[in-house]
Amino acid sequence: MKQVMNRANKITRKNNLDLKISFEFFPPKSDVTEKRFWDSLHRLSPLKPSFVSVTYGAGGSTRERTLKMVSKITADTGIPAAAHLTCVGASKDEVNQVVRSYALAGVKRIVALRGDSADGIEAEFIPHTDGYNNAAELVKGICKLGNFDISVAAYPEKHPQSADWVADIDNLKRKIDAGANRAITQMFFDNDDYWRFLERVDKAGISVPIVPGIQPIHNFTQISNFAARCGTSIPNWLAARFEGLENDSETHALVAAAVAAEQVTELVENGVRELHFYTMNRSNLVLALARLLGRR
Ligand code: FAD
Repeated sequence: MKQVMNRANKITRKNNLDLKISFEFFPPKSDVTEKRFWDSLHRLSPLKPSFVSVTYGAGGSTRERTLKMVSKITADTGIPAAAHLTCVGASKDEVNQVVRSYALAGVKRIVALRGDSADGIEAEFIPHTDGYNNAAELVKGICKLGNFDISVAAYPEKHPQSADWVADIDNLKRKIDAGANRAITQMFFDNDDYWRFLERVDKAGISVPIVPGIQPIHNFTQISNFAARCGTSIPNWLAARFEGLENDSETHALVAAAVAAEQVTELVENGVRELHFYTMNRSNLVLALARLLGRR
């Protein structure tokens, strides 16, 4: 797969305007964090992202804040905004109402997700009795309500609750067949996981873009904990690079930039045309990476 992409899509990094990039933010909780949200967004917006997405807190806890942020992004910046949406703890009618409120705010893009139970991904997902059971059902429901651009989640290391790879890829295919336009991957740190995943996706006849989700490592301890919860592995070589840097933020930041630079450079040099950055509402690392890839 890597070689095929290499042959077909080798690109120059000199003026890389055909590389699409998008940014993920989470809705801020306070005035202070809201300022950081906007500062970061304004710093990144000259990079002309295809869209900026705003997450939906566990159990719909950020319902109002997600709507507020996507509405404001759409109205104030002209950057297309994508609103995340989950099925957790809400009936179909309630979820559909959120979709309608997105449409009213001019939001035309939705990242459609199942979400997790309150106890996290380790716990069994119990859908609302009148709710959508999974992301594929949610995608179908959204398509009935309007003409949205829909992204769904994909897992280069398999979703932890999928019985096996067949079940995992079948589930992705159901989401695409239901009407999703692309999949964005969970963070991963070994590009070989992504290339192997693309092979599986290709074999299943899935042809929509599988956009790599890139997680710059602002804080290795935090990211490792999060990775353990969502089924992303931390390779030994990666842990070794950050070992002992807990109290050395300057070197940590340099290593983080180098690690992410290596990852995105290899992806792009082998034909990847679209990258989704998990910004954690910060701009420095993402800005540096985008510049490295030829974006100004
Ligand atoms: P699904 O695609 O529904 O799959 C979940 C699991 O159920 C899979 O193992 C699948 O194989 C299995 N499954 C689905 N249908 C069936 C079936 N009919 N029979 C048997 N098994 C089935 N979470 C949030 O709370 N808010 C966010 O904003 C958010 N944004 C995210 C963005 C991205 C890009 C990614 C990758 C994840 C995001 N998440 C978010 C996390 C996501 O909600 C979790 O990973 C969740 O565990 C799965 O969601 P999903 O949409 O992939 O679920």
